[in-house]
Amino acid sequence: MSARPNIVVMKFGGTSVEDAVAMHRTAAIVAGRRERGLQPVVVVSAMARVTDQLIAAAAAAGRDDREEALRISAKLRGRHLETAADLVHAVRLVDVLSLLHHDFDALDDLLRGIAAVGELTDRTNDLVVSFGERMSSRMVAEAFIEKGLNGIYVDARTCIITDSHYGKAAPLEAAIEQRLLANVLPLIEAGHTPVMGGFIGSNDKGITTTLGRGGSDYTAALVGGGLHAGAIEIWTDVNGIMTTDPRICPDALRVKAISFEEAAELAYFGAKVLHPATILPAVQKSIPVWVLNSRNASNEGTKITAIAPPCSSPFKSIAAKKKLTIIDIVASRMLMAHGFLKAVFDVFDKYHCAIDMVSTSEVSISVTVDSNEQLPAICDELSKIADVKYEGRKALVCLVGEDIRGHNGIAGRVFSAISHVNVRMISQGASEINMSFMIDEEDVEEAIRSLHKAFFTDPDKTVFDVEALETQTVNA
Ligand code: ADP
Ligand code: ASP
Ligand code: MG
Repeated sequence: MSARPNIVVMKFGGTSVEDAVAMHRTAAIVAGRRERGLQPVVVVSAMARVTDQLIAAAAAAGRDDREEALRISAKLRGRHLETAADLVHAVRLVDVLSLLHHDFDALDDLLRGIAAVGELTDRTNDLVVSFGERMSSRMVAEAFIEKGLNGIYVDARTCIITDSHYGKAAPLEAAIEQRLLANVLPLIEAGHTPVMGGFIGSNDKGITTTLGRGGSDYTAALVGGGLHAGAIEIWTDVNGIMTTDPRICPDALRVKAISFEEAAELAYFGAKVLHPATILPAVQKSIPVWVLNSRNASNEGTKITAIAPPCSSPFKSIAAKKKLTIIDIVASRMLMAHGFLKAVFDVFDKYHCAIDMVSTSEVSISVTVDSNEQLPAICDELSKIADVKYEGRKALVCLVGEDIRGHNGIAGRVFSAISHVNVRMISQGASEINMSFMIDEEDVEEAIRSLHKAFFTDPDKTVFDVEALETQTVNA
């Protein structure tokens, strides 16, 4: 299949579509790409904070608090209508408002239904949260029409086909490619700018699914992969992938270029700037991915490349993942017995519970998992084969860089930088490009700042944007 180098998939996150001003800024960025002769396909998140509010509304309905659910929905309706009124010209405004009212009426019916049944299933939750991206994409398409970009709304659920794992559905890439070529490519070829919601999809029966929190990045990569686009751009509220989360460390530097492998590792271990699964569809088709700032569009951003540029620093960035639990499983003298580890991992598998880190001794195994409501059940089941203890409020800190390989004594430097912090589990070597360890959640900020100071005070100017340090826009 030949590539379509002129197609650029541009994904705008919640802050890039948070109100009419942000949507106008987004339109100007897209106009710039069209002026260069490129053919943008736009993927948008729900307006900032809307997904959280929809989740809260669904939860309220699920516990039979109908009033609260409808109160949240009414507030969201007001915000969307107000934004539309700021965005759209009088002639089309009536139509746009009636579309929004139609969607919000459907949402209210759904919330009333959930409250009446008094039960919220994963499937229904997905339907509730899908309204965020459905409405934001409609509004952005309208903004693009206003701005002469030939915007056209595409319901993402007609293209992003997934399995039925509600809440975190897996995309079916062959079906997605086929739908994109049938539904979206002809629109691009006719000169339109298609706009679709990220995060949402549907299964083979047309039932709404979602790709998991932060999943709009994933949608962008799937659309880029399916259309064999020339580039994927992730537009967000920071200058690119930074040496750590700039909210934790205001001195964080932009990383000019980072490898696919490094970016994937960072995303998996908590760097919210990219969804963990984003990179794969792009890597498979060698499509470059950029991370860019919609509030500072002239900044060069971060380019994610197949091969990492050489770097004199061992690490490119530091990530942290909170809300983890350490489970200690002690089986005196049985650990190495045939089939024991399999029995342990089968329990996690049964609950679809991913393990981040593992360490073993002769008689015990410790694993870390995302804290979740199934933990008591998991531990109950494990306690049939061993003694089990678990401890929550833990965090994993992870330093990532392909150049760890070329440096000796790195572990010594890492742990002396955080000698004041209590470290529980350490891992290096599972991946050659990361070093990670577990600490208490409340120590994360301090540990990251100390590590950042130790490893990024004399950064390699070819890889890190040292000049911009003073002018960086960090939008809290
Ligand atoms: P969007 O809504 O655009 O998808 P997100 O909030 O999901 O944006 O991701 C952007 C945020 O990721 C930034 O505001 C920043 O606080 C956070 N972040 C965490 N780690 C990093 C990092 N290494 N580089 C840049 N941003 C990071
Ligand atoms: N709106 C969804 C979320 O908040 C998806 C995304 O923004 O990427 O998780
Ligand atoms: Mg995001």
